[in-house]
Amino acid sequence: MQLTIADNISALQQGLMDAAKAGKRVALVPTMGALHPGHMSLVAAAKTLADFVVVSIFVNPTQFGPNEDFDKYPRSLESDLKKLEEAGASLAYTPSVADMYPPGFITKVSVGEMGEILCGKFRPGHFDGVATVVSKLLLRVLPHVALFGEKDYQQLCVVKQVAYDLDIPIQIVGVPTLREADGLAMSSRNAYLSAEERKVAPLIYKTLQETKKALVDQKLDVNTAFALATTKLTAAGFKVDYVDLVAADTLYALNAVEPGCRLLVAAWIGKTRLIDNISL
Ligand code: AMP
Repeated sequence: MQLTIADNISALQQGLMDAAKAGKRVALVPTMGALHPGHMSLVAAAKTLADFVVVSIFVNPTQFGPNEDFDKYPRSLESDLKKLEEAGASLAYTPSVADMYPPGFITKVSVGEMGEILCGKFRPGHFDGVATVVSKLLLRVLPHVALFGEKDYQQLCVVKQVAYDLDIPIQIVGVPTLREADGLAMSSRNAYLSAEERKVAPLIYKTLQETKKALVDQKLDVNTAFALATTKLTAAGFKVDYVDLVAADTLYALNAVEPGCRLLVAAWIGKTRLIDNISL
């Protein structure tokens, strides 16, 4: 099937109406474009759960802070559309900022404290921007299922919370993180890394694995394990925003390992902020 491109809400609705008439089961994969194999693994997973896969490409200005990388965020629409066509996606929704936020738009969706901890502490307002745009995308498309990467673990939890709290009748599915051969989590922001930075970037994942071992096998206490991780990353040239252990769904901070908890790191290498996480 050919990829339909909808760059505004009416074209989107037309495409969705055709899919509904044909009795199709719909999946949504929201993205900010600059598509890499990590994104494409979400599309592949979506195809196993639905027969009409909508991929949105929208660099959402409201989730970027005033000093963040909105302007220089990588954009590659032509090649993104080619990748989606090849992968068998059904519809690419590529709205403009004006289509997403028409004049008079004022409502914000906020998950309170869940959006103020971890990355939210360092990116004030970020998760309100995410919660708002994802709510709009979910309601515009009203798919049966929507897929999000575990790579952005806090985002996945925020989206699940919003769907639960606002009775949005859509199944939210998390997809495991796709990594480079050396362990670095794939991310559009990896394109910012210099050759030198790219060499040290896999240390984030390595440190997560070592910290997991320290906590689970060596039974090290959380504070000592975090201090070791921070020291190691700092010595390699990172500026660490946080290393944290949290409950899998609520993201409550933990001071001991419990089943299914999540270990997360955010750290800067040069001018690039990288995040990663693993399950314990
Ligand atoms: P982004 O374009 O960075 O907003 O990402 C769009 C979606 O792709 C989000 O749900 C991300 O969590 C997911 N994603 C990004 N990188 C990866 C990856 N390496 N593995 C799996 N999912 C990813």
